[in-house]
Amino acid sequence: MVKEVKTVKFEPVIGLEIHVELLTKTKIFCGCSTTFGAEPNTQTCPVCLGLPGARPILNKRAVEFAMRASLALNCDIVDYTTFDRKNYFYADLPKGYQISQYFFPMGTNGYVDINVNGESRRIRIHQLHLEEDTGKLLHVGDILASPYSRVDFNRAGVPLIEIVTEPDVGSAEEARLFLQKLRTILLYTGISDCKMEEGSLRCDANVSIRPRGSDTFMNKTELKNMNSFRSVQRGIEFEIKRQTGICKDGKEVVPETRHWNEDKGTTTAMRSKFAASDYRCFPDPNVIPLETDSSWIEEVRNQLPELPDEKQERFKEEYQLPDYDAEVLTSSRELADFFDETLKDYNEPKTVSNWIMSELLAYLKAEKMEITGCKIAPRQLAQLLQLIDKGTISGKIAKTVFEEMFQRGEDPETIVEEKGLVQIADEGELERIIEEVIEANPGPVEDFKGGKKKALGFLVGQVMKATKGKANPQMVNKLLGEKLK
Ligand code: ADP
Ligand code: ZN
Ligand code: MG
Repeated sequence: MVKEVKTVKFEPVIGLEIHVELLTKTKIFCGCSTTFGAEPNTQTCPVCLGLPGARPILNKRAVEFAMRASLALNCDIVDYTTFDRKNYFYADLPKGYQISQYFFPMGTNGYVDINVNGESRRIRIHQLHLEEDTGKLLHVGDILASPYSRVDFNRAGVPLIEIVTEPDVGSAEEARLFLQKLRTILLYTGISDCKMEEGSLRCDANVSIRPRGSDTFMNKTELKNMNSFRSVQRGIEFEIKRQTGICKDGKEVVPETRHWNEDKGTTTAMRSKFAASDYRCFPDPNVIPLETDSSWIEEVRNQLPELPDEKQERFKEEYQLPDYDAEVLTSSRELADFFDETLKDYNEPKTVSNWIMSELLAYLKAEKMEITGCKIAPRQLAQLLQLIDKGTISGKIAKTVFEEMFQRGEDPETIVEEKGLVQIADEGELERIIEEVIEANPGPVEDFKGGKKKALGFLVGQVMKATKGKANPQMVNKLLGEKLK
C-alpha cells in the first residue's frame, strides 16, 4: 500500500490573495494622511482609532480606484454594495472590527492572462473587494526576553483592495509571473505604487497538492510573509516539496497558516485552520450603502489608460514588433511611452526597440535605475539614430555617444562635437590611412591575396583601430577591397 502511494505523481494547486494599498491622499473613512514612513501614531484621528461617537465618511476616490482596478482586471462591477463589519480581536485592530465589502465585493469574475514559456494561461479572479488596512505591530527585541510589542495606527484605515484568485495557478513560477503581471497592470492604472518592500503590495499564497489529473481539492496551507517576487516563488516551491513529502509518506497535510522564513528558506506553522473563524459580519450601520450606476462605471472606465495587453497587441500590429519586443516594451507604462515618444521623431520601430532593449535597459539595470530617472529624452535617442543614418557617426561610435548621453543627458550632437567623434567619410583621408595599414601588415595582405578572405576582416579592423573607430565601415571595406585587387 505504502509503495503504491510513493509512485503517485502530484500536481500543485495554488490560489493567491493579494492586498494592495491605494494611492489616495487620505484614508478610507477619515481625512488622515496615508503617507508612508511617518513617525508612529502621527496620522490618526478618532475615526481611524475607532473612538466612540466618531463618524466614518467614505472616500469617493478609494471607491473609484477599486472600481478602476476591477475594470482593469476584467471584472463585473457590483451595482449595490454595503460596507460590512468583520469582527475579530487583534491588537493592531483599534475598533475590534475591520470594515470590508464582505457581502457584495466591488468586482467579480475577472481574469488576468499571463505568458508562461510562450504560452498564454488565464488566471481567473474570483473577486476584488475594498476594505481598510489594520495598524502595524512592532515587535520589540526578542519576543521571549522582552515580551511586549508596540503598535502604530498610521496604517489603520488606509484603503486597501484585496484580490482573490481562483485556484488556477499551477506552479510557483506561475504564481510569480501572475503577481508580476498583476503589478504591471495595477501600476498602469495608477491606483497604487505597488511597492512590495513597503508593504503596499502583499501576497498570501494558498497551496495544496493533489494526484496529477485529479479534480478534487486537498487540504491547503496559507503562506504569509513573502515580501518579494522571489520569495513568493521560493516559498511556494518549498511548500510544494514539503507537502509532497508528507503525502508520499501516506500522511495528510494539516490545514494551517504558515510563515515563510526568508533567511532559512523554510515555512513554519503559525496557526491552525481547523476552527473556522466566525467573523459575525453585518453591514456597518454608520456607513451608507453605495449604489454604482452604469454612468459612473462608464466614467471610470473612460479614465483607464491603454493597458499592457492592448498595448502589446498594438505594438505588434502597428509596428510589426516581435512578441518578445512588445512584451518587454510594455512592461511598464513609462517605458512604453518612451518608445512611442521616440517614434514620433524617428519612425523605425524595430531599430528603436533594439536600442531600448539592448542599450537603454542594460544601462538602467546596471545602475539599478527606473526609466523615470533616465536622463536621456526620447527626442535625444531619435537624434542619435538620425546621426547614424546621416553618416555623421558609425553605429559603433553611437554606442559610445549613448553611454555619455546616459551619464550626462546631453544632446548627441553636443557630445559628438565635443569629443571629435564625427565619422571619417573623406575618401582621400581614408585612402591614406588604408595605405599605411597595408604597408604595416604585409603578412595579412599576402594571406588575402592568397585566398584567405578572413584576412580582410583583420585589415578592416586595423583601419578602424587607426581611426579610433571613426572610419565609415562601408567605405573602408570598399576602398580596401579596391586597393588589394
Ligand atoms: P478560506 O476559506 O480558507 O479563506 P477560500 O475558499 O476563501 O478559503 O479561498 C481562499 C483562496 O484559496 C483563494 O485564492 C482560493 O483560490 C484558494 N484555494 C481554495 N481552495 C484551495 C486549495 N484546495 N488549494 C489551493 N488553493 C485553494
Ligand atoms: Zn483618521
Ligand atoms: Mg477567504
